[in-house]
Amino acid sequence: MAAYTDDVEELAIKVAMRFRPMNVRELNQNAENIVTFSDGKLDIQDPVDKKPKTFNFNHLYNPNSSQEKIFEDFGTDLVESFENGFNGAVIAYGQTGTGKSYTIFGQEETPGLCPRFIENLFSRVENSQSDDVSYQATISVYEIYNEAVNDLLVERKNAVQCHIRQSKNAGFYVTNLTFEVINSYKQASRILERALRNRTVAATMMNFNSSRGHLIVEFQMQKVRTEGTKKMQLFTTLKFVDLAGSERVSSTGATGDRLKEGANINRSLSSLGNVIYALYQRSQGNTKVIVPYRNSVLTKLLKNEIGGNCKTIIICTASPVDFSFDETLSTLRYASRLA
Ligand code: ADP
Repeated sequence: MAAYTDDVEELAIKVAMRFRPMNVRELNQNAENIVTFSDGKLDIQDPVDKKPKTFNFNHLYNPNSSQEKIFEDFGTDLVESFENGFNGAVIAYGQTGTGKSYTIFGQEETPGLCPRFIENLFSRVENSQSDDVSYQATISVYEIYNEAVNDLLVERKNAVQCHIRQSKNAGFYVTNLTFEVINSYKQASRILERALRNRTVAATMMNFNSSRGHLIVEFQMQKVRTEGTKKMQLFTTLKFVDLAGSERVSSTGATGDRLKEGANINRSLSSLGNVIYALYQRSQGNTKVIVPYRNSVLTKLLKNEIGGNCKTIIICTASPVDFSFDETLSTLRYASRLA
């Protein structure tokens, strides 16, 4: 029997693999579908040697899987946990153009996890608000680009430099960040839209493609319960993370700034993988393993939302066509190592 110590941490990390449908460009280029799905298992055919490789996932979504289904599987539990004081993170990983933003934000007709989360949270909070229980929620939206943080709730021209600091109580945090109080789904959506517009403008002004930064939407909630003369407070944080595209830099022939950008992305994505793997080893009783949060800004800022008592969901996205085989295989390997 395994020896347990008090230090062994419960691990609540779920890893999902989601494939999007072929897009018009791929269809026009006569791309071939190389992925087949069966119960929790997928086969991907190497376009050169035609040999299939098999991968198994507890949470596997084929191109027909709907946004509703993904929310049903993860979102409802997330809202409940958040309201009950569990921190969490929903992280989308994958090659650019494979559905990270679609999964997190979605579109008007097919909203993703983040807008559905906000909508459900507000209806839950409205129902449980009473004379004894009150809530206050805030939203912040920011981006990590080249290991620096840009606040997306202020326009670029008014931006104040943000820094990463560490405190005993709060852990790692970002200075000068805007927190807007939110009271309704509508208001939160407008703020989110404004942030995503600021993201595009900032990227154009700074001459980078916005898919080369990690986007974080952070919700904080304070729940106050009064019992007689006693007041109990619960603070919870949930972060939605739309990661920079995982495609390798060499495949885009980068030099100079682009090379630096790519190196930072690779480093932070591999740090994230290493942090999660270290947390897994600890959960298996290997308590000597040190979790390397300090290796990137991304992992520093996720320290309070992954591992420990947190709900963490990582959704890896990929395209099902032959042209993307190398990138898809690398995403499948990343996901398998975490799952
Ligand atoms: P990424 O954020 O990874 O760069 P996007 O989320 O922007 O990719 O997706 C690229 C395109 O593919 C978008 O037009 C998006 O609407 C579409 N798309 C992505 N995933 C799906 C899906 N599961 N079903 C339908 N369309 C999708």
